[in-house]
Amino acid sequence: MKGNRVQGTILVIDGVSTNRIMLKVQLTAAYYAVEQADCLADVLEAARHCRPDLVLTAMTLPDGTAADVKEALRQDELLADVPVIAISQSNAPERRLNALSAGIDDVLPQPVDDVILQARIRSLLRVHSANEELHLQRDASHGFVLPLSDRHAGIDCAGASVALVAQDTQTARDWAKRLKGHAPHELRCHQMDDIQLMMTAPVADVFVIELNELSAGPGLRLLADLRARAATRKSVVIAVPNPADPQIAAEALDRGAHDVLQSGFDVDELALRLTTQLQYKTRNDRLRDSLRNGLRAAVQDPMTGLYNRRYAKPFLDRTAERATESDDTFALMLADLDHFKRINDQYGHPAGDAVLIEAARRLQAELRPVDLVARVGGEEFMMVLPGADEVSAGMAAVALCNAINSKPFKVPGISQPIEVTISIGAVIGRDLQHKGSDTGRGGSERLAKGVTDLISQADRALYNAKNAGRNQVTLGKNCTVAA
Ligand code: GH3
Ligand code: MG
Ligand code: MG
Repeated sequence: MKGNRVQGTILVIDGVSTNRIMLKVQLTAAYYAVEQADCLADVLEAARHCRPDLVLTAMTLPDGTAADVKEALRQDELLADVPVIAISQSNAPERRLNALSAGIDDVLPQPVDDVILQARIRSLLRVHSANEELHLQRDASHGFVLPLSDRHAGIDCAGASVALVAQDTQTARDWAKRLKGHAPHELRCHQMDDIQLMMTAPVADVFVIELNELSAGPGLRLLADLRARAATRKSVVIAVPNPADPQIAAEALDRGAHDVLQSGFDVDELALRLTTQLQYKTRNDRLRDSLRNGLRAAVQDPMTGLYNRRYAKPFLDRTAERATESDDTFALMLADLDHFKRINDQYGHPAGDAVLIEAARRLQAELRPVDLVARVGGEEFMMVLPGADEVSAGMAAVALCNAINSKPFKVPGISQPIEVTISIGAVIGRDLQHKGSDTGRGGSERLAKGVTDLISQADRALYNAKNAGRNQVTLGKNCTVAA
């Protein structure tokens, strides 16, 4: 994708050149590509140029602050979500909190502890690349695109459930008491070994896990377990080393914690991090849902709910391939409603639409769950019946024809039920790779050509059914079955 770097690109921003050089040495040793800027004014241009995976900035710059850096990055959609770590001379809680509420992902005190810095970077890069993947998938799906303005605003996380997990229930209860006034969440208290209870649905949106001298081992195991299980994989995990311990914090991040409270339990910081993490989670859940819906929309006809041609063709290809592999047969049918233009002309386009919807429903109802019905044109349908031979395909085609012609269509707003008929051309696919005649190379090309030929034959069969007077099935090349 972006060059041949080993671990990712980090943009280091600091007005003091010795600080930049020290960080560069440290990060280069860990196989990151490092780019530099020395003031706020240069940030956007430098970031647009190097497309960093992460930004590491001094809290105070000659012409601004870390919060200004975050704000500058937000001006560019491609940079808005790049994680930012600030390095601060002071470890004063209000400075940390201000930076966190400005959207900075973490604040580390100077001198920077290398172990915690590296673990923090790894963890943020992991989350960032997962998010980037989601965005790429969404863009590739041609589906619904969440506008930028919706991504940072309007996400209400009130009512989310937060599980507080401590070595003993008393600590969890104490945390809950302190958190209560600060966060509008449903709080649950758990002891570390309440695993059964924690896994009971509905699972919490966030797990906050205490890691103290006694519980560090079990806590880290629980953390890894929560991240690995399907039921809790989408939950957020925040680790709280208690008391503060950089080694344990680093280990928690490496085991997959989304966030850690490096300075131990602090109710303001926890409330803030809960909000940020819940917003990320809500946004990603929505993105995942919209992606799923977008993918479905791309292969579904919105009017009838049937699959469209985009889905039908690969389905046909797969069916042909499987049939060839297993020496089986299948049926392909092309169907077209008769004199549909007249229906539109006589009753109006909306009535025509209602007929199409009902026709789709009847065709679908006639087939097995393994069969495919797709709307491949205005009033044209394609059916694929895996495993069908001449006899069963002929019977199925006649049944489809009868499903349309046997009962006039009742359309809302039209007093007289409408007589509708359909013509169907059906063909049988077998050994489309012609395995018998040749082996080895060229198999997939022969299969593709076999499928194309089969579609042409079905098309000709449909044409013949129309020519022979409509409202009937033509099977194979010349054989007509009266409906
Ligand atoms: P034939 O028996 O030869 O198939 O005659 P036909 O009238 O069905 O065929 P023709 O291809 O001339 O007309 C198809 C009509 O289907 C024309 C078009 O306006 C109509 N049509 C296509 N899509 C839709 C749709 O989504 N809704 C409605 N109401 N009509 C549609
Ligand atoms: Mg027609
Ligand atoms: Mg047509």
